[in-house]
Amino acid sequence: MAKVTELGYVGITVSDGDAWRKFASEVVGLEVLDEGEGDRFYLRMDYWHHRFIVHVGDGDDLAYLGWRVADATALEEISDRLDAIGVKYRVGTAEEAAERRVLGLLKLEDPGGNPTEIFYGPLIDAHMPLHPGRRMHGRFLTGSEGLGHVLVHADDPAASHRFYTQLGLEGSIQYHLKTPNGLIQPTFMHCNDRQHSIAFGVNGDKRLNHLMLEYAELNDLGKAHDIVRSKGIDVALQLGKHANDEALTFYFATPSGWLLELGWGAAKAFKQQQYHLNDVFGHGIEVSGMHDVEL
Ligand code: FE
Repeated sequence: MAKVTELGYVGITVSDGDAWRKFASEVVGLEVLDEGEGDRFYLRMDYWHHRFIVHVGDGDDLAYLGWRVADATALEEISDRLDAIGVKYRVGTAEEAAERRVLGLLKLEDPGGNPTEIFYGPLIDAHMPLHPGRRMHGRFLTGSEGLGHVLVHADDPAASHRFYTQLGLEGSIQYHLKTPNGLIQPTFMHCNDRQHSIAFGVNGDKRLNHLMLEYAELNDLGKAHDIVRSKGIDVALQLGKHANDEALTFYFATPSGWLLELGWGAAKAFKQQQYHLNDVFGHGIEVSGMHDVEL
């Protein structure tokens, strides 16, 4: 059965392109790539042409998620399965594939209304090793684990779980969290060794609650933390360690309002599911009101 293999790229809309260029490079260490298109620029994490397409214009939210499959045959299998379960999609044109620097893609929406693309054959710029936007000790953890993870909007978490299961992801509810607003039971799903590539079950006013990127070196997380503190950026959740992915992380505001979670040291995906009531330690709420719960 064909499955998606990684969260390969993410598109975002931003209202302040200049703020994002500075934020992505100076705080996170991403490489900004501008190909003169005017309405967009790219962010690089590794040898891929891009991991992020930043569309400058109206809005500050997720534009689309790009899920990779192995090849054209896998993409065809996935489209057959979508036909069988009655999910509408569109086959991207050659121009749309070229726009994303991939060999082929489908466009659809997940049940939460998040624009979704399933693609194969990304452009890998093997001649262009990452030029980080600021000093880094090591690199971002990508490779077979994709770019990171996202927590996105889901009106009906069970429907979203069914949808992503059809794409080949696995996972389940991994926390029961008591909050002032009642019990929250977020779902976490994986498609490779990364503990989760997507999560849902916590809804706010945006499609995107947060995006997580992982450093291969602890010192790079520490450096990011120093930079966030020195710039006075709002920290939503202080340093702490999750019980499910065991990553040391903290959450802070992006120029778009949604949160970036930077981390290090995540465990690999569960072979068998389990759930938790608490994190291991930390993640104290510092600036509240951005989101009540972030995982
Ligand atoms: Fe997270």
